Amino acid sequence: MLLNSETAPVVLFMGAPGSGKGTQSGWLAASLGIPVVATGELLRAEASRNTSEGFRIRQLQAEGALVDDKTVCGVVESRLRRNTPRRGVILDGFPRTVRQAEFLDQLLDDLGLPRPLLLHLDVSTTGILRRLAGRRQCAVCGSVYNLRSKPSLKGSRCQKDGGALVQRDDDTEGVILHRMAEFESSTAPILAYYGPSAVLRIDADRDAAVVAADILHAVAPGTAYHLAVA
Ligand SMILES: [Zn+2]
Repeated sequence: MLLNSETAPVVLFMGAPGSGKGTQSGWLAASLGIPVVATGELLRAEASRNTSEGFRIRQLQAEGALVDDKTVCGVVESRLRRNTPRRGVILDGFPRTVRQAEFLDQLLDDLGLPRPLLLHLDVSTTGILRRLAGRRQCAVCGSVYNLRSKPSLKGSRCQKDGGALVQRDDDTEGVILHRMAEFESSTAPILAYYGPSAVLRIDADRDAAVVAADILHAVAPGTAYHLAVA
């Protein structure tokens, strides 16, 4: 499905951890001048408030439990109603379930926004392993680097504070494979719900700049992209 440039695109990014989803959605948002609405951030903001809803989210998160559909839909709805993105929006982390997808359809309809376009960033296991194998984190400040795509200017030390760069436990091969399998099984129902005509598969094993150009061409043909805004 291609959207013409007069339509405000509603874009959902789907991609396994390590697929470059965060980078690509940030670039697309900057190129189109549209916001990224991230459920994680909305929930964190709500949890920091001294309301009964905020209290409940804090409690769920403290127990390590998933926040329920109703709460997640509620924060997304109030964000989109408060400041309706007439020029388009990228949704990050939503919808995660078919119930959330049904809710979103109704909400977009109410707001006069089009049905979403799903960008499925397709990465191979070897591609993700290669990418994540290069990831290093500063043991002191937590800054993330990548030996291939974002090396520290100070080599094996953090360029901010000189801390040692270490590989995170959750970047080991077994954990990565487990996360990929989990991602596949959790997104399959969403992809099936929207159907193949709403889903655009992007080969995300390629260079990030090539992937970005492809995405922009699909969403808004004719728009120049701004890779500098990371
Ligand atoms: Zn550091």
